[in-house]
Amino acid sequence: MSKYEANIIVIGAGSAGLVSAYIAAAVKAKVILIERHKMGGDCLNTGCVPSKALLRSAKIANYMRRAEEFGIEAVPVKPKFAQVLQRVHKVIEAIEPHDSIERYTELGVECVTGEAEIIDAHTVRVGQRDITAKSIIIAAGARPFVPPIEGLDQIKYLTSDNIWELSEQPKRLVVLGGGPIGCELSQAFSKLGSEVTIVEMMDQLMGREDGDVAELITRNFEQGGIRVLTNHKAVKFTNNGEKVLHCESSEGLVEIPFDEILVAVGRKANSDGMNLEALGIKLRRNGTIETDDYLRTAVPNIFACGDIAGPYQFTHTAAHQAWFAVVNALFGFAKKFRVDYRVIPWATFTMPEVARVGLNEQDAAEKGIDYEVTRYEIDDLDRAIADGEAHGFVKVITPRNKDKILGVTIVGHHAGDLISEFVLAMKYKIGLNKILGTLHLYPSLAESNKFVAGNWKKNHQPHALLKWVERLHNWRR
Ligand SMILES: Cc1cc2nc3c(=O)[nH]c(=O)nc-3n(C[C@H](O)[C@H](O)[C@H](O)COP(=O)(O)OP(=O)(O)OC[C@H]3O[C@@H](n4cnc5c(N)ncnc54)[C@H](O)[C@@H]3O)c2cc1C
Repeated sequence: MSKYEANIIVIGAGSAGLVSAYIAAAVKAKVILIERHKMGGDCLNTGCVPSKALLRSAKIANYMRRAEEFGIEAVPVKPKFAQVLQRVHKVIEAIEPHDSIERYTELGVECVTGEAEIIDAHTVRVGQRDITAKSIIIAAGARPFVPPIEGLDQIKYLTSDNIWELSEQPKRLVVLGGGPIGCELSQAFSKLGSEVTIVEMMDQLMGREDGDVAELITRNFEQGGIRVLTNHKAVKFTNNGEKVLHCESSEGLVEIPFDEILVAVGRKANSDGMNLEALGIKLRRNGTIETDDYLRTAVPNIFACGDIAGPYQFTHTAAHQAWFAVVNALFGFAKKFRVDYRVIPWATFTMPEVARVGLNEQDAAEKGIDYEVTRYEIDDLDRAIADGEAHGFVKVITPRNKDKILGVTIVGHHAGDLISEFVLAMKYKIGLNKILGTLHLYPSLAESNKFVAGNWKKNHQPHALLKWVERLHNWRR
């Protein structure tokens, strides 16, 4: 007679929870997955999928505006907002089966719909049902953080949760927050015809990226008609017939009238309402759950992964953590695995895309590393020129005079795909010499990775050997 109903209960069926349940079922554990809202969580319903689908329409509109550049007669570009959003929802519907109750039930997962509350270290309550398990994985995700700004609660504001339900395209849209979500959605709405102002408190957009990246994106945004207001702190909203955002800036108070506002200033972990603190599960100041290197919470048979655990808040990091959480929960009695954050890539899917893995200059300087920067400018790349996408750069950080990749930033067309070569290289400790010695298809965007390796090589030529070889050639002619 088993002591518990299941080996694992997973709370939340977003990226972290689905992957946890999938792996647990694949290794024949009895797993119960609890979801209170929609299977697929944020990524499918309000995050990655709808934002990338929206950006796709925006990109098509942008190419249509550029038609003459490609030798095609220009036509009036009239995005139909309702149809664009309809497509976004169709894309969600097309992907939905991957994350559905039907699929997971077939995989052997018991799916339960309802709000989960943890009663004790082995019991989770959903409605009237108490479910017991040897281990629990909390994968309850995060939601948009709404800052306490005067007057905001008096205004019907948008977040990444509800923007997909807009019935009309905003004429004047203010986007509060210049991080990845704010930047992607600003550009999407702008290319679809809204007048967009992006307001950021810090001195640059995409605060985690280097200044040269932010500059390029800002220039691009401004050329595309987006008003970029960095160093602007939102202090108040008023609505006297017209909605206005009041900001403090170095030039004094700035008033920005708008029709809709999107609040995109960060995400808050869904760590409330599950009884966590009463159980002794510790939270960090930002609300994420504190875990050890094995993703165990302060209650050792309860694990956390995904946005609720942090420190990264991406779908792929949620899935990556899920593997460690499940394997440690099921097999930790025999062998435990430390979660591995050494090589974490991410991308912001603006036009151009910004992708990164490992350190940038900002990080290397903060860590006091004696580093070198090697760049390749993509405006020189044959394929980028042919595609009309000759812009951006690849920037590699290495320790001085050492062929070891510490980090890479790529800004350019399909940067999010191009970065993968460096992710693999970093993971398996492949240096730039080996990237240079690898055939890259011509003409491809991926050649930019080889060319940056070539630039590094040029800067590290074996001068003494070359001098000797030159003498040899002179003697032989
Ligand atoms: C606009 C936007 C764009 C994004 N774009 C990208 C991108 O391009 N690439 C990328 O990697 N990431 C992107 N992200 C981030 C990505 O969506 C998240 O990192 C990812 O969804 C986190 O997965 P998760 O499983 O931790 O949480 P979630 O997806 O939030 O899933 C948590 C689930 O738990 C459920 N839940 C919560 N509490 C309970 C409870 N008590 N009982 C039962 N169920 C509960 C919730 O309903 C939810 O379904 C984007 C996010 C946004 C908002």
